[in-house]
Amino acid sequence: MLYFYNRFFVLLARRVQVLPALGIAVVFWFAGPVLASQTGFDFSVHTLASKVPGKTALIVGGIQGDEPGGFNAAALIATRYKILSGRVIVVPNLNFESIIKRSRGVYGDMNRKFDRVSKTDPERQTVSKIKSMITDPGVDFILNLHDGSGFFTPTRENNMRNPDRWGQSIIIDQALMPAQYTGLFSDLSVTAQQCAENVNAHLIEPGHTVRVKNTRTAEGDEEMAKTLTFFAMKNKKPAFGVEASKSFLTPGRVYYHLLAIESFLTKAGISFERDFSLTQNEIEKAIDKDIALTLGERRILLYAENIRNRINYLPMEKDSEVQFLVNNPLLALVHNKSDFSLYHGNRCLSHLSPQYFEYDLGIDSIEMDVDGQKKQVPFGSRILVKEQFMVHPIPDHRVNIIGYTTQDMKDEAGFFITKDDCMQRFSIDRDGQIFRIEVYRQGKFNGMVLADFRFRNKPDKIAQITKDICNVEQVFK
Ligand SMILES: [Zn+2]
Repeated sequence: MLYFYNRFFVLLARRVQVLPALGIAVVFWFAGPVLASQTGFDFSVHTLASKVPGKTALIVGGIQGDEPGGFNAAALIATRYKILSGRVIVVPNLNFESIIKRSRGVYGDMNRKFDRVSKTDPERQTVSKIKSMITDPGVDFILNLHDGSGFFTPTRENNMRNPDRWGQSIIIDQALMPAQYTGLFSDLSVTAQQCAENVNAHLIEPGHTVRVKNTRTAEGDEEMAKTLTFFAMKNKKPAFGVEASKSFLTPGRVYYHLLAIESFLTKAGISFERDFSLTQNEIEKAIDKDIALTLGERRILLYAENIRNRINYLPMEKDSEVQFLVNNPLLALVHNKSDFSLYHGNRCLSHLSPQYFEYDLGIDSIEMDVDGQKKQVPFGSRILVKEQFMVHPIPDHRVNIIGYTTQDMKDEAGFFITKDDCMQRFSIDRDGQIFRIEVYRQGKFNGMVLADFRFRNKPDKIAQITKDICNVEQVFK
């Protein structure tokens, strides 16, 4: 399976800011140069470059935090597409704080700050950073992804289908680029129309037709004159708004976003492949597939995919900043009073209840016997188990397999353990398949390994798995 982590999944996350209402333990990994994190909510930048020269697209998701179609589509481009020619730069989480807080804009509408932004505006730096990405001479065109209400139609049909609606449209500010512009997509209207037609060839239902909406911004639309796309236009960059209808659930919106994005990329000569098929069902799976985070000096790995809604007694480090790494740009850990909320975009996936320990970094791995083979397994990784595992005893250390209990057994090393020996409700996943192996020395926490039984009795799937031990930066499948 293709999983393109190696371009960007190196993240350093810090708890940077504690807001009055809720503390945010932040989260970021960066591709390329690390942008200074002032607020803890900086967006991430993912550059998907190919070896074949070509045009560069800049794709922006999440300018408004309550439009999950757009930011999930952008995150899928960042994580599950491979660019074969040309280059794609993705910002999947431009207004990340608003995404996590399910707000259109915690500090007002970010998409009205591209003409002027007040010096005291908390988003001033974010806006100025994305502006400099837009005006970068290396960028050829820009797509700004939105979810819009209802369905845009040129004439009024009813309350949900009329010229004032935005859903299912491709937005242009004017029909043509200025006369002196000689680059790609100089005829915005024709380009948008052709992309709309490409999308319309794959409608889920006929009523979902995508249409081009020309806001004629320069003719006096003061609101649109403040937007990202108009800023781009003024700087001679072709820019398109892509609006999927809020009438659909997220996978439906993402479906239309991806169709539109792919159409623009193809028209620009940027070729690509993705590792899932374009159906709502597959999109829904792809959004969550293999998402994970690591924390606690990288000694704890947690799958965010299919995680239980509460994880108890997570051994976190006493008196320490919460640091973590994620392998998906929409994952965030929010620090509440007594626990942590794990978010993917605006969905809260789980609550993590910490138990605080001092950490002992004396050992980095454990020796295990897994299905008859000896393995050295690093902390912060998972090990695939088909039938049974055993942790070799470590002098002066205690192994605790969460969900496995024997009578008064202090150290659970040295026992062969099958899935049926573990109580399902202690698994970290909802299906009762993934269990925590924790190691302690004199009351201090050493590290954790996950025993992953998900592929037990699935020899066909096991055969595709190339790595039986892997961490957050690696492929889980
Ligand atoms: Zn929007």
